[in-house]
This record gives sequence, C-alpha cells and structure tokens, in this order.
Amino acid sequence: MTKLTKIIASIGPNSQDYKTLKSMVDAGVNACRLNFSHDTGDVQGQKIDLIRQISEELGRPIAIIADLQGPKHRIGDFKTENHYPLKVGQEFVLDNNPARGDETRVCLPDNDVLKSLKVGDRVLLNDGKIELEVLNNNCTVESRLCSVTTKVKRGDEIWSRRGFNIPDTDIETSVLTPKDRTDLEYALTKNPDWVAISFVQRPEDVAEARDFITARSSQPIKIISKIERPQALERLEEIIQISDAIMFARGDLAVEIPFEKLPALQRESIRMCRKMNKPIIVATQMLGSMVHSEFPLRAEISDVALASYLRADCVMTSEETTIGDNPINVIDTMSKIVTNADGDVYENGQDWTRIENLPENDWSRSVASMAHLNKAAAIVVFDAGTEIATAVSCRKPDMPIIAVCNDAIDANQLCLSRGVYPIFNEQMFGQKDASEAARRFGVTRGKLVIVEGDKISLRDLD
Ligand code: PEP
Repeated sequence: MTKLTKIIASIGPNSQDYKTLKSMVDAGVNACRLNFSHDTGDVQGQKIDLIRQISEELGRPIAIIADLQGPKHRIGDFKTENHYPLKVGQEFVLDNNPARGDETRVCLPDNDVLKSLKVGDRVLLNDGKIELEVLNNNCTVESRLCSVTTKVKRGDEIWSRRGFNIPDTDIETSVLTPKDRTDLEYALTKNPDWVAISFVQRPEDVAEARDFITARSSQPIKIISKIERPQALERLEEIIQISDAIMFARGDLAVEIPFEKLPALQRESIRMCRKMNKPIIVATQMLGSMVHSEFPLRAEISDVALASYLRADCVMTSEETTIGDNPINVIDTMSKIVTNADGDVYENGQDWTRIENLPENDWSRSVASMAHLNKAAAIVVFDAGTEIATAVSCRKPDMPIIAVCNDAIDANQLCLSRGVYPIFNEQMFGQKDASEAARRFGVTRGKLVIVEGDKISLRDLD
C-alpha cells in the first residue's frame, strides 16, 4: 500500500534533535512546520538547517513551512498569578491601561482591536469557555485612554496573558503584525519553501503578504492561507484563488464559529481546493491525545482517516510532535492510519475526475482518467515546475504521481500535494526515463502514464 496523504509535522522542543527528526522523516513526514508563535530567529534557523541536512542525507525532498503567528491577541497581566473568577451577568472592562488587572478589568494591549469592538460583539477567552458581550465602547480615534465595557455571558476562571478570539469583529489592521514582519524577514534569509499566514480575513491580506515576500526574496516561495476566521469563510473562493495552498486551521476556527459547523466546512473547503487545483491541509488535534498517550483515541483514528477519504492533501500534527512524549510514534501512527485509508478498496477505484464539473478536455482530467481506466501503477510527470503535478494531484488519482523536478524548491513544494512523490532530477542524472523514475520510487511493474510537456502517453514499465 502506498501512502498518498502527506504528513506535516510541527517541530518543537521534543522533535528538533537530529535523531528524532530523522526517524520522523523515516516514519513518513513529508513537510516540517516551524511555528513562529513559539520560537523565532536562530532557534528556527537551526531547525531549518537540520531539516535541509536530513533531506540531503536521505535524498528525499522535505518541505519547510514558516508559520507566522499573525494577529493573535492576548490580554495583559493580573495582579496575582491566581485565577480570577468571572461570573455570569457581571460587568468586566477591557482597557488600554497597562496596570495589572483584577476581577473588574484587564488590559487589552492592542488599541486597534479595542477600537474595532462594536456593541454586541463577542469576546471569547480560554478557547471559548468565557464569553463576553460588548455593552459599550468609549474608544474614539482621538482617545488616548480607551475602555470597552462587557457583560459576562458565560463564566469561568481567567488568568494572565490568555489568548482571546473576537469572531464578530473585522480587524482592520494589517495581517502581518510587526512581529510577523521581523520573523518573516529572518525566515526569508533561510529560504523556506512555504510561508503560512495566520488569521487571513480577505484576499488582500494574501496579496499584502506576497508583496512583502517578493520584495525581499528572489525565491518563488509559496503562500499557505490559514482559514481560522469567519471573515475568511465569507470570501473563501477568492482567498483560495490568490493563495498557493490552504490550511484548514480547526483550533481557532472552532472557537470563532459554532463548532458543529466544522465538519461540513472542512468537507466544503477540501472540495473547493480540489476544484481550484490548490493543496489543502487539515490541521489541529488530529492525534492530540498522543501528547502523553502511546495510542490514539478511536475518534482520532477516524478523524485522520476521514481527511484521507475526503482527499485532503495533508494532515498535520501540532503539540503531539512539538512537546509530545514520543513524536516518532505519533508519525508512525499517523502514517499507518492514512496509508490504510489511502488504500481502502471500498473508497478507491472511483474516478474522481467525474465528481468535478471540469470540462471533458481538461488535460489534468485526461491524465487522471487515463491512469484510472488503465489501472496504471503510477503517473510520471517530467520537469513541469509545480503546476502540472499539482493539477494532476487535484484530480485525486489512486496511484502515486512521480514528479521529476529540475529545481529543488519545486521538489520541496510538491511535498504538500497528495500522492505526488517528487524526485530532484539531479538524482536521476538528468534522465527522462519514466521507468527509472518509477523504479526509484519502488514501482516495479504495471503501466505508467507519462506526462511530458503537453504530451500524455501510456506504456508498460520496462
Ligand atoms: C489552528 O488554530 O488550528 C492553528 C493551526 O493555528 P496555530 O496553532 O498557529 O494557532
């Protein structure tokens, strides 16, 4: 059985040593996510160097994703490190006074956010366990001192520096915070393959990030838009269009929208990305219980398999590989689940090209249909940048797509496309030998569909 769904591992304190990282790649990691919310600068730089070293040693492309924190908001400090209870019905003030807070008020250090809050907007704290409703906002453009009075609709204990979500509020500021700009400037010196932009709300945010990147890097670095705000869902199609890939970031999204809407939105986002030839990542709490457990929850097994059944391109780990007890076991577990789901005989054998309303003469549809009808062992795509292999991947064929790339960055970027196994052409000594490419991947017999320029051909493996 071949693993078609790609695995992205978040790399943190428990997975950033050479031995662990190499074993994780051996166990099935295709891409590494470096979360700039936690580490910055040289700490991330060292991880990038290590990943590149391992990729070279194993002769296997590995994508590197620099994931920026984005405008993630946090309240300020309280007078003590105690938890402060917020009771339903009480008033609670959010203001820009840097003094430490108590049970009546706390500092919300971002003036732009305070000013954006409208009467009736919700402020959610502790992953949504606390809900505040804005009663009045006395911040004006001119006001130096700014305070917003809220009423507690759902209470819980609160403590210093908790993150919060404001699902009803359009944030008018740039999607790249000053911290993101510093982190991105640094990341670009290390040539990541992908940059992930957090809390995207509108297509203009992606355009802004792209301008920032192209002004500072000559590399064709690609952009992942993280979908985690209701505002992004309203303009999802435009955001997919302008992005190179999408991350369905379920952590923040499930706080910002009613959580019961998550599965339908996940399925719809995957469908839209498939249709628009963009890879999509399903992220967060996929194997969350494995931070400390040796085995996954039964529900997690089904959640990971579902992502494969829906033909997502990638599944992603978070804390389970950054601070988890056994990151290698997590990747091994994830690999087993997706490999079995990818090879599920009840799921496979259907021609996914028929599911979309793509024109009959769409060439990526022709490639996948030819491979499907002839039960090809693999599709081999020659030196076509990333576009052709990605488009073929989005037709969701059941067999691997071996992409022979002339450029290392193309090979790394294709690590996010379902079923695509990139080979850097230098490893092939510049040959255009489809059988050799297939054999290197481990395919030893059967038919190959070969894509070279605008020529599509079918032949038996030599
Ligand atoms: C998420 O919210 O699901 C997510 C991936 O974002 P982050 O972990 O960067 O907050």
